[in-house]
Amino acid sequence: MERAVAQAAGAGLTGLLVTPGPDLTYFTGYRPTAITERITMLVLDADHDPHLILPVLERGDAAGVPVAITDWADGSDPYPAAARLLDPAGRYAISDSAWAMHLLGLQQALPGASFLAMSSALPMLRAIKGAEEVDRLAAAGAAADATYQEIISVRFEGRTEHQVGTDLAGLLTGHGHSQVDFTVVGSGPNGANPHHEMGDRVIERGDMVVLDFGGLKDGYGSDTTRTVHVGPPTTAEQEIFDVVRRAQETAFAAVRPGVPCQEIDRAARRVIEEAGYGEYFIHRTGHGIGLTTHEPPYLVEGESQVLVPGMCFSIEPGIYLPGRFGVRIEDIVTVTETGGRRLNNTSHALQIVT
Ligand code: ZN
Ligand code: ZN
Ligand code: ZN
Repeated sequence: MERAVAQAAGAGLTGLLVTPGPDLTYFTGYRPTAITERITMLVLDADHDPHLILPVLERGDAAGVPVAITDWADGSDPYPAAARLLDPAGRYAISDSAWAMHLLGLQQALPGASFLAMSSALPMLRAIKGAEEVDRLAAAGAAADATYQEIISVRFEGRTEHQVGTDLAGLLTGHGHSQVDFTVVGSGPNGANPHHEMGDRVIERGDMVVLDFGGLKDGYGSDTTRTVHVGPPTTAEQEIFDVVRRAQETAFAAVRPGVPCQEIDRAARRVIEEAGYGEYFIHRTGHGIGLTTHEPPYLVEGESQVLVPGMCFSIEPGIYLPGRFGVRIEDIVTVTETGGRRLNNTSHALQIVT
């Protein structure tokens, strides 16, 4: 919290308004059982000790949170009460997860104050992970890797994407995930849509199948993609797969402190462009991961933020051929003093499944 207040001051902000979601979990470990129309908000600024505003009925839930607490009761207007803790002419960053009604209430109570989205005002707030956070991300990655090792021996041919996706979800849970965020099973032409989750298509022999899965284990995220093939691939399929593999591995090799995020994107994109598939790589190369499965930093053209030891993010180039198939390979990577360390360590080879 002290570090965040210093960062806020450095960015010309009066303070931070932290509402339930990953930001509040990050600072306090507090996760209200239900995030509702009743405002809960942590106020962090340089002039006061951290202060949590919450509905009186949730006081018991927040008993272990080591900050001062102001409660408010149903029937009272919480916004003027919250406003008394703030600078009427202040400039505050507010959590992206804050409900619009809460921000509107604060704006009405404090017409002279200004508010910015946390992710635009302090994008790197949670981006540099401590050693314990990296350990948790590594454990989540290992659980996702164990899931992959098991999914490649299930039957694909003749089963639907949904059935394989259900297997993936069960394996993630079996390996300790408390929450499954996504199980993409993109078979054949469906793999050409990076956002295709899964459907009723029956997987056939000869299909490429994109498998992208992840969720939360002990509060931290996993997210990995491997592309498998049902039976032996054609030469053309293998060649396109190899381009993506080379792009992923080239981008990983470029990871080291001081390199701008966009350079990692460029490293992956250059390989795919030189192979003639540039127009089929239709998304950024990666995203940060931590208490959520998608967060800053983003590895995208135009992001000049440099890599710092402790940052954790995906490297996930792909090629998507409409009407045919898709290929993506994704690992979570953390920045060390000397380069990158993968938190996913299963083979990158094109796995043949049955
Ligand atoms: Zn094929
Ligand atoms: Zn993914
Ligand atoms: Zn991802």
